[in-house]
Amino acid sequence: MTGTPGTLYVVATPIGNLEDVTRRALRVLREVDLIACEDTRRTARLLEAHGISTSTTSYFEHNERWKGARILDRVREGSDVALVSDAGTPAISDPGFRLVREAREQGLRVVPVPGPSAAMAALSVAGLPTDRFLFVGFLPSRAGPRRAALQELASRKETLVFYESPVRAVACVADMREILGERPAFLGREITKLHEEYRSGTLSELRSSLAERKEIRGEIVLVVGAAGAHPAPSLETAEDLFARLTAEGHSRRDAVKEVARALGLPAREVYRRVLPDRQ
Ligand code: SAM
Repeated sequence: MTGTPGTLYVVATPIGNLEDVTRRALRVLREVDLIACEDTRRTARLLEAHGISTSTTSYFEHNERWKGARILDRVREGSDVALVSDAGTPAISDPGFRLVREAREQGLRVVPVPGPSAAMAALSVAGLPTDRFLFVGFLPSRAGPRRAALQELASRKETLVFYESPVRAVACVADMREILGERPAFLGREITKLHEEYRSGTLSELRSSLAERKEIRGEIVLVVGAAGAHPAPSLETAEDLFARLTAEGHSRRDAVKEVARALGLPAREVYRRVLPDRQ
């Protein structure tokens, strides 16, 4: 202990491929007095892979409050501490924000050691505008609050970046299609891992391709185009298209089928919109 406070380093770690770690991150993890990990066993794998034997302690969502205070005691007393999460950049949909805020309030030195983050990795290959984007992170898991959250985002003029669980991916993309309208979108699954997958298309195309699968595994980032950058089919569009097709001589049944295909809506939804009396 030197009598002068130490530094809290916020260190990014790989999101899959263990090679995605900077030389500086490895040096800092080797040199600090303590590594505060979201999951000590998970970080142990990274440390072992690089021959690092620094002591670790846990710092996760449910011990954040009291553990954070002890970690900052150590920094105040002169120790250098590195904060890591399970994957990617701490504090980005991960524990860390409270510790950093508290450290700053106490006037302690907080230094980032930047590196991977799934959001940035996905955005960098999505092929959607990156000049303005909104990192949304996880939407609520329950359908009602999720749909309400999407409604709030519907008019945002930035590219939207979401984290999503594989279990909810189909329902989530279906809600996006319905609430945000048709938009270009991108899915990054298992980024940098063995079974990495990158898929772009419209929200309807993504929805169909996900719905066809028996099971969806792995970690997912969804990137969705901004409002207004492309025609967003509305209730009126379905009606207009139906009217045009029937005027061109298509049967009502064929017109409904075509509207459903063109707008990526279930046929019964098209019937509900264009032929409400038939219900
Ligand atoms: N702090 C991390 C970061 O900087 O990206 C994010 C942690 S958050 C708890 C975990 C979520 O990030 C996953 O559910 C997934 O949405 C996304 N994610 C993390 N790694 C990923 C990967 N390799 N491929 C796709 N998405 C990933």
